[in-house]
Amino acid sequence: MKNTLQIAIDGPAGAGKSSVAKVLAKRLNCIYLDTGAMYRAVTWLAMQQQVPFDDLTGMDQLLKNLQLEFREEDGVQHLYCNGMDVTEAIRSTEVSANVSAVAMIPLVREAMVAQQQKIAADCDVLMDGRDIGTTVLPDARYKFFLTASLEERARRRYLELQQKGVSVDLEQLQRDIALRDQKDSQREVSPLVQAPDAELIDTSHMTFDEVVEKLFHKIAK
Ligand code: C5P
Repeated sequence: MKNTLQIAIDGPAGAGKSSVAKVLAKRLNCIYLDTGAMYRAVTWLAMQQQVPFDDLTGMDQLLKNLQLEFREEDGVQHLYCNGMDVTEAIRSTEVSANVSAVAMIPLVREAMVAQQQKIAADCDVLMDGRDIGTTVLPDARYKFFLTASLEERARRRYLELQQKGVSVDLEQLQRDIALRDQKDSQREVSPLVQAPDAELIDTSHMTFDEVVEKLFHKIAK
């Protein structure tokens, strides 16, 4: 294994991990891997192919035939799942509502973690997710646990969706996020938890730029 730079950013839903990670990875010149998008793609495909999540043989078959590829197009990272661009589709409310159920299946996690570790073995990477600092990259040089109050996370997601022209109910959004966090934190395999050696960063009262600067300076230092 090469001596690559590994940065792990974990935290609950809507803490701003992926927006921060994207900018940071560009500045640090390393690959950004959105691991949540991978679990979302598996969920999307299972729903598309009507494979019940508890049909482990079906899920195993789906994983064996799965091809995930991140491609940069016009400065935007796209995710292709078995040749289809699923970048937008994996953000749907249906996928968001089901992804935690899929992400708790051990064979799904094994397949995803193996792919993530393979990528990290060859290149400098910044990954964001739930189990990066604990399971995927336990030896990462930098580990952060980004969080914010539930109200603030829901408010940010609400504004983000509004900007995209998607109308949602703020209170419902808050309930959905809380439920997803609960499922992610309580699952048996690799639950959402702060790694003992990760630095906790509460972004509730920070602007996006402040978070980016803070992390950048900690790494660049
Ligand atoms: O990051 P994002 O909110 O898109 O992640 C979607 C879901 O994927 C999470 O709620 C969680 O269930 C799952 N996930 C995971 N492990 C990761 C990344 C995401 O279980 N490393």
